[in-house]
Amino acid sequence: MEKILNYINGELVEPINGSYLDNYNPSIGKVYSQIPDSNEKDVDMAYFAANEAFLGWSNTPKEERSKIMMRISDLIEENLVELAKAESIDNGKPVKLATQVDIPRAASNMRFFATAILHYASESHDMDGEAINYTLRKPIGVVGCISPWNLPLYLFTWKIAPALASGNCVIAKPSEVTPMTAYLFSKLCIEAGLPKGVLNIIHGMGPSVGSPITTRPGIKAISFTGGTATGKAIAKVAAPMFKKLSLELGGKNPNIIFADCDFDKALKTTMLSSFANQGQICLCGSRIFVERPIYEKFRDAFAAKTKKLKVGNPSDADTNLGAIVSKAHLEKVLSYVDLAQEEGGTVLAGGNKVQLEGELSEGYFMEPTIIEGLAFDCRTNQEEIFGPVVTIMPFDTEEEVVVMANSTEYGLAATVWTQDVGKATRLGACLASGIVWVNCWLVRDLRTPFGGVKNSGVGREGGFNALNFFTEQTNVCIKL
Ligand code: NDP
Repeated sequence: MEKILNYINGELVEPINGSYLDNYNPSIGKVYSQIPDSNEKDVDMAYFAANEAFLGWSNTPKEERSKIMMRISDLIEENLVELAKAESIDNGKPVKLATQVDIPRAASNMRFFATAILHYASESHDMDGEAINYTLRKPIGVVGCISPWNLPLYLFTWKIAPALASGNCVIAKPSEVTPMTAYLFSKLCIEAGLPKGVLNIIHGMGPSVGSPITTRPGIKAISFTGGTATGKAIAKVAAPMFKKLSLELGGKNPNIIFADCDFDKALKTTMLSSFANQGQICLCGSRIFVERPIYEKFRDAFAAKTKKLKVGNPSDADTNLGAIVSKAHLEKVLSYVDLAQEEGGTVLAGGNKVQLEGELSEGYFMEPTIIEGLAFDCRTNQEEIFGPVVTIMPFDTEEEVVVMANSTEYGLAATVWTQDVGKATRLGACLASGIVWVNCWLVRDLRTPFGGVKNSGVGREGGFNALNFFTEQTNVCIKL
């Protein structure tokens, strides 16, 4: 059985304590590889390596850092098939999705920040001949990057790339649930000639690896993507140490469909925004609000299409939904279907575990599910489910839907479907959300600010926001 290894000081190494955890393939419900069960000793070792590498890496010319990162990006593309297959096995997502989205995006993340750093400039302020100020942007030092299981390599590289480009050394922890592509990535970093100690990848559990990364004094910034509860726990320990914090947390996103929308486009995209990656994308629109005049037409068409989606083997090209990432997560998602019914909801489509045959008979599969008839403020409509479960509700006025859309503790992303520019503009201003998509979903320009308001997070990733996060400013004032 394949053993995943930590990547410390440029080498692939066993965890110091020699212990390993089981890594499951969620499509077959069986262990298929072993993950280091690392602890604070491995984090310490990584920290010493990173700290030693910092002087060299931060003084390496940007062009050179950029070239190495471009090589890593090229290698990701050259290994697309292998990486996509590995992501699909580890996470349960359709291999087609990993091939078209996850892995190409990981390559883009590396390429985007490798080139962004070449265009990154700082400000100067001229005091009318009395003095001149210029602002240096310096790398912070050793930084921590912690990422979740839903888009494993995609989100892992989204953090690491700006940190490395701006001259920091990194200690990174992928989710213990989906560690495989981060391991394969470490091999590509070695092949690309990334100097030793610049990036260190430690595998293991949140409390034994994530927590030491957030509490270790020398690690000066933490970039975290994951659940809101974990984000709170991290803020509690890291804030009193005055670490810089970027927190990308949960969501409960509204998908608002007005009667004047392009019906077919709204329907087609809602299929994706509801169920892509088994609904396990922080940006999925899990609460669908449809304006009353088209409510029944939209609901019936949406339910009919949903019932036709294929839940199946992630390796099959025609599979729409693969496996849920773990048994525990499947149980959590199913428990929300029970809760929704207790709260008075009616299941319009799905609602059940899917029993596949043969090798997949122990896999964690679930039907895409639509629930109708719930109050906007019930628990099902307020708590993050993070699976293939959406609710659908009618609304009558713009004012009413804004209140319902803004009613949760989250504020990550919202989608609005309308042909009326005025309405789109008003909604864009009124929705308490870090991102608003109009007549589209998941259209991403990597230069734009990415992140949430309220309990969906603190700070913004993307473009120069990320480079700003991973640098410290020094203003130099010269008297003329
Ligand atoms: P978790 O918060 O459970 O875990 C995220 C990462 O943090 C994992 O690597 C985890 O390790 C680690 N971790 C757990 N406990 C600690 C700790 N005490 N200190 C430091 N690190 C810790 O999230 P999930 O992996 O379950 O991911 C799903 C969540 O991520 C959802 O809420 C989703 O909305 C959110 N998300 C947000 C996005 C955004 O951009 N806003 C994007 C994607 C997902 P381990 O796996 O070992 O527990």
